[in-house]
Amino acid sequence: MFAKLVDWLACPKCGADLSLDGPVPGDAEIIDASLTCQGCREIYRVRDGIPRFAGDDSENFENFGYQWNLLGNVQIDRLAGHRLSEGRLLSETGWDADWFKGKVILDCGCGAGRFADVAAGLGATVIAVDISRAVDACRENLSVHGDHVNCLQASIFDLPLKPGIVDAVFSLGVIQHTPDPERAVASMASVLRPGGRLAVNFYEKDFWPWLQPIKYALRLTTPSWEQESLLGFCKALVKAFFPLSYAIRNVRKARLLSHFLPICTVHNPELNKQQQHDWTLLDTFDWYGPHYELRQRHTRLGALLGELNMKNIKARPGVVQASKPAA
Ligand SMILES: [Zn+2]
Repeated sequence: MFAKLVDWLACPKCGADLSLDGPVPGDAEIIDASLTCQGCREIYRVRDGIPRFAGDDSENFENFGYQWNLLGNVQIDRLAGHRLSEGRLLSETGWDADWFKGKVILDCGCGAGRFADVAAGLGATVIAVDISRAVDACRENLSVHGDHVNCLQASIFDLPLKPGIVDAVFSLGVIQHTPDPERAVASMASVLRPGGRLAVNFYEKDFWPWLQPIKYALRLTTPSWEQESLLGFCKALVKAFFPLSYAIRNVRKARLLSHFLPICTVHNPELNKQQQHDWTLLDTFDWYGPHYELRQRHTRLGALLGELNMKNIKARPGVVQASKPAA
């Protein structure tokens, strides 16, 4: 973390300011330190360059730490030589590429940092939050951005940020993996400044699960498996089924068959075959690892944003966007 982040932080328990213990090192990154709450006196560690607020809450999400530390790089445009993450970020937020410059943007559920990397590359200062050890992968992958990327390990429900400090918040593919997606949306809206923007992408509650009976049958047990066993299982599934899905990737009618396979196939002409294989393994692990998969209706989340007094609400399957009223 960098010293300027301290001005934005607040105690997730009582909301009071935090102060950095010991000397403030100017422009250098703070690797190992502690932060003390000026209200309740709780002490939070900064370890390996990241303030840690998540505590025991993170235990149910270690699949993400494992997954993103091991497999995440293929999704980072800059490291993998494609622009898929940029395309998805721009389409699901609805924000122009030019708009990011100079903004303070919160990425909730950053994983290995694929979208934070794009936002920082477009000129934003990003606060990247994840409850799992995925933030360690994010910090390492995005160190090239210096103090334009600040990683925090924290719960989306207890964001350690002052209210009204961020220009925008996005969360892509995350909230269905929390125990309370609506509360996650409300929490994100609370840290927006007046006029700030919010965009959330999520799994829509639709007919898809009915087409994936193998996935959902296996998910009855897989989230409780040891991470190494689950990865071995996913590798075996991908080894068995990826060649078939790759062979039929351009055959339109046969492609339907892919949806019935027990792997999450990713075929995109921007990726080479090895990248498609690696991304398929990553997404297959992402099918079977999460403890929660609570699909949401866009109509309900749109209504929730109305209840939170947000404006300019747009809702479509899998995406809601809104902004906070100007003061
Ligand atoms: Zn406190």
